[in-house]
Amino acid sequence: MWEIIALCITITGLAADNITNVKASYENYKVFRIHPRTYMQLEVLQDLKNSNEFSYWQEPTEINKEVDIMIPSHKFTHFYKIVSNYKMFHRLQIRNVQELINNTISQSQSQNFDFNSYHALEKIYDNLDELAKKYPGQVVIVGGTTYEGRKIKGVKVSISNETRPGIFIEGGIHAREWISPATVMYILHQLLFSNDTDVRYVADNHNWFIFPIFNPDGYVYSFTKDRLWTKNRKSSSSFCIGSNLNRNWDFQWNTTGVSNDPCSEDYPGSKAFSEIETESMSQYMRSSHFYAYISFHSYGQQLLYSCSYLNIPHYVILYQINFIAIETLQKKYNTQYETECISKFQQLSGLSTNYVANVVRTLIVYLYKLYDKSEYGFLLPPKQIIPTGKKTLDFFIAMCNETLFLLQQLLKIFLYRDIMWKLTVLSTIVIIITAQKATYDNYKVFRITPTTQKHITLLRKLTKFHDRFIFWEAPVWVNMTLNLMIVPNYLPQFYEVITEIGAPYYINIENVQTLIDQTMPHYKSTFDFKSYHSLEIIYNNMDNLAKRYPNKVKVIVGGKTYEKRQIKGVQVSFKANNPGIFLEGGIHAREWISPATVMYILHQLLTSNNSDIRNLADSHDWYIFPLFNPDGYVYTHKVDRLWRKNRKPQNLFCVGTDLNRNWNYKWNTTGVSKNPCFNSYPGTKPFSEIETESLSKYIQSISNKFYAYISFHSFKQLLMFPYGHTKAHLDNYDELYAIGLKAIVALKKKYSTEYRIGNIAETIYLASGTTTDYIKGTYNKHIVYVYELRDRGDYGFLLPPDQIIPTGVETVDSLVTIFKEIPMYQKYVRNDL
Ligand SMILES: [Zn+2]
Repeated sequence: MWEIIALCITITGLAADNITNVKASYENYKVFRIHPRTYMQLEVLQDLKNSNEFSYWQEPTEINKEVDIMIPSHKFTHFYKIVSNYKMFHRLQIRNVQELINNTISQSQSQNFDFNSYHALEKIYDNLDELAKKYPGQVVIVGGTTYEGRKIKGVKVSISNETRPGIFIEGGIHAREWISPATVMYILHQLLFSNDTDVRYVADNHNWFIFPIFNPDGYVYSFTKDRLWTKNRKSSSSFCIGSNLNRNWDFQWNTTGVSNDPCSEDYPGSKAFSEIETESMSQYMRSSHFYAYISFHSYGQQLLYSCSYLNIPHYVILYQINFIAIETLQKKYNTQYETECISKFQQLSGLSTNYVANVVRTLIVYLYKLYDKSEYGFLLPPKQIIPTGKKTLDFFIAMCNETLFLLQQLLKIFLYRDIMWKLTVLSTIVIIITAQKATYDNYKVFRITPTTQKHITLLRKLTKFHDRFIFWEAPVWVNMTLNLMIVPNYLPQFYEVITEIGAPYYINIENVQTLIDQTMPHYKSTFDFKSYHSLEIIYNNMDNLAKRYPNKVKVIVGGKTYEKRQIKGVQVSFKANNPGIFLEGGIHAREWISPATVMYILHQLLTSNNSDIRNLADSHDWYIFPLFNPDGYVYTHKVDRLWRKNRKPQNLFCVGTDLNRNWNYKWNTTGVSKNPCFNSYPGTKPFSEIETESLSKYIQSISNKFYAYISFHSFKQLLMFPYGHTKAHLDNYDELYAIGLKAIVALKKKYSTEYRIGNIAETIYLASGTTTDYIKGTYNKHIVYVYELRDRGDYGFLLPPDQIIPTGVETVDSLVTIFKEIPMYQKYVRNDL
């Protein structure tokens, strides 16, 4: 059945294309506007979009944000069924799409180039040529190439004939958004001809790179065949044509908001820069100098700026500039524009703007969605060209002036000199802004108990709104409570969502910042177990131990960090030829109880008089690293208490790789996020991070000296063993389980602390590229365990310091048991050394 439908569609498509040469008709197609009011409705609309059944004019990105869908007449019944089933508020927006199309096209017949109608590609290109002829040297034709062999024609405008800071303007990457090239042409004409002093000042003091049409093949097609065509025109499969050129750029390509169905309007191409349009334009961009980039789209009246949440708030600048520009528009024309992040709500990938911001590293990047709000949508009547052009020009002037003002204030640098916008300047700005500490004032943490699989599914859907709903534990298991931290502004939304989901919950932490303040160390100069300590104090203590026990303790450097710190550890050895045990702590920065516990174990090994502990200590060589992630640890003390990753910038806005997802064994196969802003980002490749890369070399160098490897995390009270990347059981699963079971019984004795035992994948979640999977998979060590230390979520990462000693005591008890049991499995000790 499916094949037949597909074939019919194809034949219709081919017929329209090649055989009858008939234009696509949208007779009786209607456009409906829907207001998703709940996350459930949003989800339905997103699923529907992914099914490619209807054509979306405005995507479903957020609750309470309008979605526009075009419906052909034979699907009305189906559509009405869906909206009534899910009780979605909807309104008829455009009664007959074809009627509007006719209106926009019939008026575009004027002979000369003007702004009273939309023009064919040829006429626009002729006009560019005329301008170049009229202003030789000042207006120069430049550009790229298209699949059908056209030029992507643009102009470089330098009115003053001197080097000036550059602004790049991109229009028409989506073919059907005709107002975009029209507006770009309007701006170009004003920059050349206007006598307004503000316009002249901005025009004369910049170099301009102006491209009205990034997608000429598509634009021609929207004139001649299908008014609503949006992609380029290269065949992407035997049935379907075109890639979405604004999903094809080589930055986080194909990670989110795309469809791998070549027939979809969101098809991102077969690989990044698979399309000659994007490829050739990216080359041109990389060879040009500009500090601002504006991409024009329609419709929706939005100014979007590239940014990310929580990390480098470079967007503060962009927001400020935007805010002023929007105010200007509002005052002058009473036109409402919205402003927000490009990526904050709309999870889209492969955009030209994101490429420019992150790869070309342009300071100011905007995506401007032009007029209107949806009365006409893509089919804006040509009489709107001039008003739209005027408003957009005003925005420009306001933006340029505000940029100048802000940057002068920040840097005391005069922009209109020969200043190259390089990273040094940018990082100065970033340092100025990020000198502030992250605060979690009025953030609340809720404890939720999903009691059904449906609860889990619904909670999992919230994880993508990571800018407001921050999970401390992933929702994986039914009946296991989890902590969800809520950004203050989104509390009302949270209550709405959780009521809808229906899982039991209560407030666990009233104010996260209060708890952070209570558990912050009062930085002392001496090491103890009454509080958490800075990196410096911990490292000093290791040095002191080496001095105090010169024949037993040796400080070792296992690796180095991105911020050029040492990854310090100690080797403890009471007699020659002991088999080795490796202890790893603090790979996740915020899990402070981990390094504290590893230090506690180290001290016990050196000083305890308990015969069990003495036996354990004396009969082994110890390789002990309390902090695998020193940069992250320092950052949790100085800036953001809840930081997890390392500190290497991944792009202009997001920092850090999860070091416990970056090891070279089954890397990036499961349980990671491709988004560098997320906490489980695994890096660009295995060992992309200097921390894991250098540590792996060190581990290699002593790999024949240890037979057991133990890693410490928090929180949840779990004792686990590999693997994390698969639920398949290890060859010695039963033994590790049996030993572990005895260990958690021993652990429970003193304080009744309850642990659970099992492999990582089945006990907590699937995760790949972890240290312990690497050690097991690469060296086949048989004794590999991971602790998730206290607690079960009352305090989570913010465990009060008075729990350091009890945690240490019970953990040592469990270690004693593990290694008492192992001689029963002596073969491993022998085989693994
Ligand atoms: Zn961890």
